[in-house]
Amino acid sequence: MKITDLKCAVIGQNPVVRIVTDEGVNGYGQVESSKPYLKPQILFYRELLIGEDPTDVERTMLRIRRLGAFKPWGSAVSAIEMALWDIAGKAAGLPVYKLLGGKIRDRVRVYNGGVRFPMAGHAPADYADAMTKMKAAREGFTIIKQGIGYHGPMFSHGPDLTFNEYQRTNRFPNRGPLTERGLKHVVACVEAMKEVLGDGIGLALDCGPGWTVPDAVRLARALEPLNVMWLEDLLTGDYTPYVTADLFREVTQKTSTPIHTGEEIYLRQNFMDLIEKHAVNVVGPDPADVGGIAELKWIAEYADLHGILMAPHGVLDGLIGLAALVQVSATLPQNYIAFEYPVGHPDWWYDIIEGLPNPIVKEGFIEVWDRPGLGVEFNIEAAKGHLRDEDKAFFD
Ligand SMILES: [Mg+2]
Repeated sequence: MKITDLKCAVIGQNPVVRIVTDEGVNGYGQVESSKPYLKPQILFYRELLIGEDPTDVERTMLRIRRLGAFKPWGSAVSAIEMALWDIAGKAAGLPVYKLLGGKIRDRVRVYNGGVRFPMAGHAPADYADAMTKMKAAREGFTIIKQGIGYHGPMFSHGPDLTFNEYQRTNRFPNRGPLTERGLKHVVACVEAMKEVLGDGIGLALDCGPGWTVPDAVRLARALEPLNVMWLEDLLTGDYTPYVTADLFREVTQKTSTPIHTGEEIYLRQNFMDLIEKHAVNVVGPDPADVGGIAELKWIAEYADLHGILMAPHGVLDGLIGLAALVQVSATLPQNYIAFEYPVGHPDWWYDIIEGLPNPIVKEGFIEVWDRPGLGVEFNIEAAKGHLRDEDKAFFD
């Protein structure tokens, strides 16, 4: 089998990759909905892939893997990798999890990072109210993640919570020490959330990036009695193009609260320091940023050898990304906690992708399906109605 074309369309806000072969088998991959601008970068790899046998996934990846970087610049390589596995599975008549070594679980636990309800403000009672609504969500999540601190607008709602002037732009520009009032506010909000969730639903906290080491230690220690699932990206994370393993290690060694990072990191090599130095307790690569699903599995195995847990990121990965997360998470070792459940935006994504269970999440889990490849397909007639003018030939 040979690759004859690589196409990309921006559907909704998600760049979607389609790899075409000389045997009529197609593979699809998807980039986060926060990156509609990535289409030109995806097409950059086209000429490197034409003529390759897509069922030799690893040999094909050797041609492009070094031409990527930390988020957002690992996304194109990652989506192409997903599409290659989709083809390899379809060609073999097997679900992708079989090609990754086989599943060790029939259903995969997910955590909530995307089912959200409008918040009236950012006081403890508002966070408690959000938890009440998420707890009642039909998906029956057993773990809920909430943004606090520098992650999200919490610090923009008080003039005296941080020492530096607060910038109200996205992509996480803020960093620096908190006031005592700021730290107390964060702790009070977490206490209010735990009050609602009790010990039946885990609470994970996305915190930064931007905390100083001393503030991170203070927060982690203050929260120790609450048994939160993890504190994510306190120091670096999201769009930080480097890893601060020694700083994370300083925090991790001083607290029993699990410390987590990794969603922006590209490739297994860039997890070595975090894992070998035991710098964090949980890693959270995103298959749509790290270099793909086999890359993510390698990191999970290496983390497991070092006693580190795995909770993949994925909230914006779309419904093809969801399928990829289900396939790989079925195969991860027992250090697996849960992956972050991607929600389709806009809602019509659920009308153009076929093959997902209905409902998708039951009691906080997704049952692993057995169709070949990633196991989802476009309803092409329905999808065509959502193609932009420049992408009208995407399915031809
Ligand atoms: Mg995060």
